[in-house]
Amino acid sequence: MRLLEDEMDAGLSPATHKKACVKMFPTYVRDTPDGSEIGQVLALDLGGTNFRVLLINLLGHAQITLTSKIFVIPQSIMLGEGMNLFRHLADCLLDFMRKENLVKSNVRYPLGFTFSFPCKQEGLASARLTSWTKGFSCPGVVNEDVVKMLQQALDEKNINVQCVALVNDTVGTLMACAYKDPHTAIGLILGTGTNACYMEQLDKVGTWDGDYNEPKQVIINMEWGAFGDNNKLNDIRTKYDEEVDLSSLNPGKQLFEKMISGMYMGEIVRLIILDLMQRELLFLGHREGYSDYKAPLFSRGGFYTKFVSTVETDEGIGFSNTRRVLEDIGILNPTYDDCAIVQHISRHVSKRAARLAGAGLAVLINRINRSNVTVGVDGSLYRYHPRFKRNMEKCMQTLVNKNIKFKLALSDDGSGKGAALVASVADRSS
Ligand code: ADP
Repeated sequence: MRLLEDEMDAGLSPATHKKACVKMFPTYVRDTPDGSEIGQVLALDLGGTNFRVLLINLLGHAQITLTSKIFVIPQSIMLGEGMNLFRHLADCLLDFMRKENLVKSNVRYPLGFTFSFPCKQEGLASARLTSWTKGFSCPGVVNEDVVKMLQQALDEKNINVQCVALVNDTVGTLMACAYKDPHTAIGLILGTGTNACYMEQLDKVGTWDGDYNEPKQVIINMEWGAFGDNNKLNDIRTKYDEEVDLSSLNPGKQLFEKMISGMYMGEIVRLIILDLMQRELLFLGHREGYSDYKAPLFSRGGFYTKFVSTVETDEGIGFSNTRRVLEDIGILNPTYDDCAIVQHISRHVSKRAARLAGAGLAVLINRINRSNVTVGVDGSLYRYHPRFKRNMEKCMQTLVNKNIKFKLALSDDGSGKGAALVASVADRSS
């Protein structure tokens, strides 16, 4: 917790920001919604598992209705020339607007763009891409203003839409949750990756280049997955963490994320299982004549993070789910001990992840220091793992200052709804 706090201060200070690994990007979002927002807003959500177009009706009194459609981004576009990606997004939006009867000459709809890639924001509707991640690699976009590129593609096709805000998925999650619960001051993602954002006081943000009017606060997108990239977490990393990192697409990067998120948790469990097999402590019945080295257990990524959830749903001594998972990875007749050991490994790897994320949240909650703080959370790991929330809460109860009440709230459709809320507020004040 102390290390994270130091890294946060380094990211917020103009003298050290450039070299800091926890980037602490100011988002230019200065306030949370109060539930009274009304209007029709469009949103695009790019950077999660799916690309979605959404139409959000803000009805006031914290009520929202939503229509959305998922579109596929072909591999050729994910790797093709940058402007073509934005033209593709514009085509999908137009297709959706035609179906929803929104193509009109006398209305210009505000649009919020959830773009969940690392960006240096220069305003609410201006952000330069730092680097592509998650399988995208379109030439001609890094260092460019992605809002400008999107708006150019919309204008080329005469689409009656103005992109008024760009947000990260953590910010979307915070905003969507704040619409229902005004105590929300933190957004957390626990999915493919992990990241968090929170409301910070302007006097703590040395890198702030905007105005100092009320409210004297701004949401900071931490990019906390990169915590530890300067070797500061080495004391708590294991040889399995090292192995996961070395065989990843981005060695040396996102080390905190690699101990926590869905993209890596199953792989950590797999490496521990293999190690115990080698030390003749597991699957002893398979030692003789184990010939199927093509089984998923022996290939990278062969133990999915959802298997960790499945194994942990077993209660008692039957282990029916654990047996099913072991069969899937090529272990056909596990003993009671085999199952118990695999469950023990899964519980500890996921508990460690929950406690690391929980300790990170405790830093933020203590720093915000209000009597009530709600954390909006989204992502499949948090949503579907049977103990993740409980394990986080247990750990946080010991780490959060006793005068503060905290709550973890699942945020449904957060990233899209949140972008629409930011857009609606931006549109009203413009
Ligand atoms: P994204 O973060 O890409 O927007 P998700 O929130 O759906 O998308 O997260 C996807 C990640 O969640 C994957 O890495 C996957 O391993 C993990 N995941 C999917 N289902 C489960 C589950 N049942 N239990 C734990 N993790 C899961």
